[in-house]
Amino acid sequence: MNLLDRYEEVVGRPEIDRLRRLGERLAGKRIVHVNSTRQGGGVAEILGWMIPLMVELGIDARWEVIQGNSDFYRVTKSFHNGLQGLPINLRPADYQLHVDVNEANARHLNLEADVAFIHDPQPIFLPRFTPAGKVGRWIWRCHIDASRPNRGVWKHLSGGIKDYAATVFSMPSFTRPLDRPMFLIPPSIDPLADKNRFLDDSERVQILEKLHVDPDRPMLLQVSRFDRFKDPLGVIEAYRLVKTAHPELQLVLVGGPADDDPEGAEVLKDVMDRAGDDADLHVLLLPPDSHREINALQRSAVIVLQKSLKEGFGLTVTEALWKGKPVIGGATGGIALQVHDYQTGFLVYSPAGAAYRIRYLLRYSDKRQRMGATGHEFVRENFLLTRHLRDYFSMLMWLDHPGTDALAA
Ligand code: UDP
Repeated sequence: MNLLDRYEEVVGRPEIDRLRRLGERLAGKRIVHVNSTRQGGGVAEILGWMIPLMVELGIDARWEVIQGNSDFYRVTKSFHNGLQGLPINLRPADYQLHVDVNEANARHLNLEADVAFIHDPQPIFLPRFTPAGKVGRWIWRCHIDASRPNRGVWKHLSGGIKDYAATVFSMPSFTRPLDRPMFLIPPSIDPLADKNRFLDDSERVQILEKLHVDPDRPMLLQVSRFDRFKDPLGVIEAYRLVKTAHPELQLVLVGGPADDDPEGAEVLKDVMDRAGDDADLHVLLLPPDSHREINALQRSAVIVLQKSLKEGFGLTVTEALWKGKPVIGGATGGIALQVHDYQTGFLVYSPAGAAYRIRYLLRYSDKRQRMGATGHEFVRENFLLTRHLRDYFSMLMWLDHPGTDALAA
């Protein structure tokens, strides 16, 4: 069975037929995606499935990764923090380093394409240093909430945006006024990937036992890079508030390093200190390819948390909803697009708020089941890869023929 037939079993024939028709219109187009890491974080996760599916649909798709030294990642991490409103401390030389690394990468990356998707701020200046004509159309795909950025960071980045034909944001509230065509395209997950595919009970339990997590006791889970915006300490606090009344409860915090995130080690140390010697609190540092393990943990959790203080879209939320789990999430970014009170989970504003909702969900298993089922269908309709790719293809057709209805394909 080919890849598209397998997706058809999940999303139905009409959706796949639409994708095939759009793919035929775009067949042979050379598309390159550029980001800053092959492993770790949501963007790498998406590109991992998107490139093969584009190829299956007849597109000549590739993935390039911008390379920099540790100083470069320190600076771009500050951009990320600054875009999300944290105080930062960057000198003019740091901004220059960003531009210089882009210039060097423009020389050695293989960028020749009809369309180049540039993901996030790290590679944003590639168009400036790429000979005219090498790339047909540049598209800046911003996954971050850029609505209230640090002024200096935004001034720097917007100098790069003017070289793009279009921009793409995940949701309206992430955007800023820009004089380029702007598209709103939420991200998605791949239901057939190891991270999300069905696991039978014996496989799931086996994986849990390997990770030394008790499969027979209720478990709370948060899967996240160790990043302050993900608020792992707030999750521990919420768990502790509930634990006294529910001594059987376990908390699992799963994280791994992203190549482009230099702050992870520091946050991890704080988490370990706070976790102390609680044998029911598992901090699991898993290698980047631990998709089956994360799948098994998400399927085993009684409630999934994503208590972020700031968030892009929050793919971990999508993954958990797809597995029929209610999600308690910080009321921020794309989490608010996915978590709806009493429908798919609860939005919370504090550790105490999270604890309150955990208690409620632990008490009412029927509500957990109902919310889980609603979440699963909600993701099927809105946040699977087929919808995502259809949106990208429609956008490309619109850019080629502005004003036409790409979905009439
Ligand atoms: N992830 C992972 N291992 C980890 C932590 C996260 O594989 O240790 C995955 C997670 O399952 C999700 C992605 O990385 O697919 C994180 O995406 P999200 O949008 O939630 O957050 P980001 O890291 O992009 O801010």
